[in-house]
Amino acid sequence: MPGRPEILFPLFAPLDGLAGIGPRTAKHLEQLGVKRPRDLLFTLPRSVLVRREITSISEGSPQEPVSIKVEVGSHQPGTRKGLPYRVWVHDGRQRFQLVFFNAHKDWLEKNLPVGQQRIVSGKIEEFNGLRQIVHPDHIRDPGTKSGVLSAEPVYPLVSGLTQKMMNRSVSAALERTPDLPEWISPEMLTSRGWPSWRDALTLSHSPRSEAETNFGFPPLERLSFDEMFAHQLTLALARSRLRQQRGRSNHGDGRLAKRVLSRLPFTLTKAQRRSIGEINQDMARTVRMNRLLQGDVGSGKTIVAFLALLNAVEAGGQGVLMAPTEVLVRQHHDKLKPLARSAGLNLARLTSRDKGRERNEKLDMLKAGDIQVLVGTHAVFQKGVEFSDLRLAVIDEQHRFGVKQRLDLSAKGDAIDVMVMSATPIPRSLALACYGDMSVSILDEKPPGRRPVKTAIASRKRMASVINRLKSAVDSGRQAYWICPLVEESGVSTLTPAENRYSSLRAVLGNDAAGLVHGQMSPAERDTVFDAFTSGTIRVLVATTVVEVGIDVPNATIMIIEHAENFGLAQLHQLRGRVGRGRSESSCLLLFGEPISSNARRRLEIIQQTEDGFRIAEEDLAMRGAGDLLGVHQSGLPEFRIADIENQGKLLRDAHKEARAFLECDPDLRTDRGQAVRTLLHLMEVGQSVRLISVG
Ligand code: ADP
Ligand code: MG
Repeated sequence: MPGRPEILFPLFAPLDGLAGIGPRTAKHLEQLGVKRPRDLLFTLPRSVLVRREITSISEGSPQEPVSIKVEVGSHQPGTRKGLPYRVWVHDGRQRFQLVFFNAHKDWLEKNLPVGQQRIVSGKIEEFNGLRQIVHPDHIRDPGTKSGVLSAEPVYPLVSGLTQKMMNRSVSAALERTPDLPEWISPEMLTSRGWPSWRDALTLSHSPRSEAETNFGFPPLERLSFDEMFAHQLTLALARSRLRQQRGRSNHGDGRLAKRVLSRLPFTLTKAQRRSIGEINQDMARTVRMNRLLQGDVGSGKTIVAFLALLNAVEAGGQGVLMAPTEVLVRQHHDKLKPLARSAGLNLARLTSRDKGRERNEKLDMLKAGDIQVLVGTHAVFQKGVEFSDLRLAVIDEQHRFGVKQRLDLSAKGDAIDVMVMSATPIPRSLALACYGDMSVSILDEKPPGRRPVKTAIASRKRMASVINRLKSAVDSGRQAYWICPLVEESGVSTLTPAENRYSSLRAVLGNDAAGLVHGQMSPAERDTVFDAFTSGTIRVLVATTVVEVGIDVPNATIMIIEHAENFGLAQLHQLRGRVGRGRSESSCLLLFGEPISSNARRRLEIIQQTEDGFRIAEEDLAMRGAGDLLGVHQSGLPEFRIADIENQGKLLRDAHKEARAFLECDPDLRTDRGQAVRTLLHLMEVGQSVRLISVG
C-alpha cells in the first residue's frame, strides 16, 4: 500500500524471513489467513492451557495437564514396527514411562539423556492400570531459563500446524515488533488501564489464566479498540470527505408536498414527520446527503421517500426511487402515480422490461426533464439512462443491493443526495459498524390503528384442521398467504413444496381461489398472479419467499408459513409483516415439521412473543452471530481479527465517539497523534474499506 510508514516494514515483510519459519510452515500459516508477521501478531490464542506442577505423577489425575521433574532412566526402543518407543523415568517417588510412537531414536537420546534431570510436560494417561505420558508437549532442561511454563497459549490451528510452531512463529514476530507511536489519547489509556500497543500484544500472547483470554482483559480490550477505532476513523474520514464535496442545496418550498398530503387518506405519524424534517433539512444544506432511513416493516417508509423526492422536484430537479424487484417497482409506481398526478408532476417507471420505442421515449423525456420522478429497478442506473438534473436518489430495501450498485449511484448525477432505506432492523451494536458513515433517520412508530398479529405455533401434523379453518376464513371473505420452503427435505416429490401445496389447496378451496408464485416464473407471470391477489380474485397466494420484501396487500390478513423452522428470524419477521396492515385482525401461523430441535422451537417462540423488529434482530444476533445475520460481504460489515462486534458493542460506540472527537481536532491528521493515527490506519489496512462502506 502506498505511503506505508517505514516503521511498519518489518511487520509486512514475507513470513519466511522470520527466524524458525520455513516455506512449509509459511504455507500452513497461510491457511489461517496469516501471510505476514503482522497477521501473526493479530492471531491471538483462543484459550490457555494451565499446567499444574506436581512432584510425582501419582499426585495428578488422569487427563490432567501437568509438569513433573524426572530423572531419565533407560531407553527401550520398540521391538517391532508399530510398537512404541518407551523411556523409563523416575520422579523421586515412582517410575513411569514416556511413550513415543514413530519415534526418532537420535532425537530422543539427545533430548532425554540417561541419568539427567528433565522437566516433562504433558497429559497424564492410564494404560493397563499404569500411569504414563504419551508424547510430552515439552521436555526441558531445568538448568535453563525456560525451565517451567505454567500456562501456555492455545492458538487456532490448521492441519500441519502445531502449537509449538505457532508459539515459535509468534515469538519471532513479536521480536520484530517495534514500539509504535501512541494513537490512543493519554486520558483514555489511563482511565482504562490499557498498556501500550506493543505491551498489549505481548501480554495477549502470553495469557496466564483463562480470564486473560477474555475481552475484559485490558490488553485484549485495547487491541480490540485499536481495530474498531481504525474502522470508525475510516468511516468518519469517508463521511467528512463526502461532506467536503460541495453538494447542492435542494430546498423545496413544500407546495407539492402540501397537495399530496391533503390527498392522503391518513395523517403522518410523528416519526414520519420527524424523518421528513431531518431529510429536508439535510437536503437543503450545501453538502451531499448520505442518509439511512430505517424502519420496521409497515412503518411507512414509502411515503417518506416520496415526500423527499417531491422536495427534490420542488427544488427544481428530479428524483429517482430504486427498488430491488419488478414487483416492488410496480407496487410503488401504482401507489405513487395517483399521488404524483394530484401534485401535477410526471412519475414514470423504468425496468429491464422496457424495450424499444417506449423505452426510448421514456429516456428522452427523462433527459428533457419532462419526467420528474422515476421509479425503477437497477435498470435506472444502466448506460443510456440520463437525467436532466438528478438531485436525489432513494434506494429501497437497500440490503438487497450489492455495494456496487450503491456506488454506481453517485456517478449518475452531479453531487446528488442519497438516501437508502432498510426494513431490516439492525441491532444498535451493529448499526455503527455498518452505517457509521451515514446519518440515520428512524421510523420507530407504526401507523395508528394497527392491531397486533396473533401468532400461533403448530405442528404440520395438524394440517387437515389448518386447511379446514383456512377454508372457512376464505369463505367469509378473508385472504391469505401460504409460504412454502424452496425445496422438499425428503426429495421424493418432483414437484416443489409450493407446487404440491398449491394443488392440494386448489382441491379444497376450488381451482380459482388459489394462485402460485415462485422464483422460477417470469416477472410477467408473477405480476399477473400478484395483480389477481391484490384485486381479490385470488383468495390464497401460495408462494416461496418472493413475497418477503415489501409487498403490501392490506386486505390479506392470514399468513401461514410451512416449515417455519427452516426460515431465519429476520425472514419470518418480514413475512409476517405482510399481514396486519389493514384495520382488521390478522393472524400468523407457524407450522413446523417434526421432530423440531429445541433451538428451532425457541426461535419460533421469539417470533410468537414479539413483533418488535429490533428485539427480534437482537435475539437473532445473539443466536446466530453478526456474519450470518447480515451476510458479511453484503452488509459491508468489517471483518475484525480480534474485536468482536457482538460482544463489544459498547467499545464500538466508544471507538465511534473517539474517532469523531479526534477528527474534529485534527481532520487532516497533521498533529503528532495524527501521525500515529496514520500508522494505525496503515497497520490495519483499512484504506480500501472506505470505498466499500461509503457511497462517496
Ligand atoms: P414499509 O415501511 O414496510 O415500506 P409502507 O411504506 O409499504 O411500509 O407502508 C405500509 C402501509 O402503511 C401502506 O399501506 C401505507 O399506505 C400505510 N401507511 C403509511 N403511513 C401511514 C400512516 N401515517 N397512517 C396510516 N397508514 C399509513
Ligand atoms: Mg417498503
